[in-house]
Amino acid sequence: MSSALIQIKGLKKHFQMGGNIVRALDGVDLEIPEHTLTVVMGPSGSGKSTLLYLLGGLDRPTSGEITVDGERLDQMDENALALFRRKTMGFVFQSFNLVPSMSAQENVAFPMQFAGVASVRRNEKSRYLLEQVGLGDRGHHTPSELSGGQQQRVAVARALVNDPALILADEPTGNLDSQSGVAVMKLLSGLPKTRRTTLVVAHAPPQAGVATHRIF
Ligand code: ADP
Ligand code: MG
Repeated sequence: MSSALIQIKGLKKHFQMGGNIVRALDGVDLEIPEHTLTVVMGPSGSGKSTLLYLLGGLDRPTSGEITVDGERLDQMDENALALFRRKTMGFVFQSFNLVPSMSAQENVAFPMQFAGVASVRRNEKSRYLLEQVGLGDRGHHTPSELSGGQQQRVAVARALVNDPALILADEPTGNLDSQSGVAVMKLLSGLPKTRRTTLVVAHAPPQAGVATHRIF
């Protein structure tokens, strides 16, 4: 049995909304084994995005423990969290979140700038990753010159650029036609072979046949 890359214990995230408390997460226990493609499914409003934000260190839990790769995220200060995020995690969002004025290759290379990678290496690596996602001939296109499916493949390449152990994807096929969705999920499903762990959250099964683990 492979060990857990992610361990979550008693995780709560409550939002104060005027006089009401929204319990987005209310005592979640979860383990995600490493080198898997795990899909977490639940209806809209069930707290999937909140879970990913907390796991990605983009927001703080109300209480509970989050351990990723042996490190307690809930106990890290902001600087440690930012550093950990950059070296350990890659993100893929439903809306792609590419920079519109940058080419596909510049979008992929962008996170490497913050990691202090030299420009020759940035070019080399972004070209390589675009080839890996089947877009070797689209490096100079801007997002508006690419289809939705192609934009999401650029986003997957960008998520991989700092060699993260963990890819977090929030409804990655939600804005795509089914054929493009299949292509994106196929790409994500190849990642466990490269010793990465991918967590996808979605309200409907995103061609979940490719998932190695499913959680509802
Ligand atoms: P999902 O991604 O599964 O659709 P979310 O995690 O976005 O669900 O939201 C879960 C619940 O938490 C919803 O009821 C939502 O309205 C609430 N929620 C999420 N973020 C906030 C926030 N920043 N402030 C207040 N309520 C929020
Ligand atoms: Mg959501």
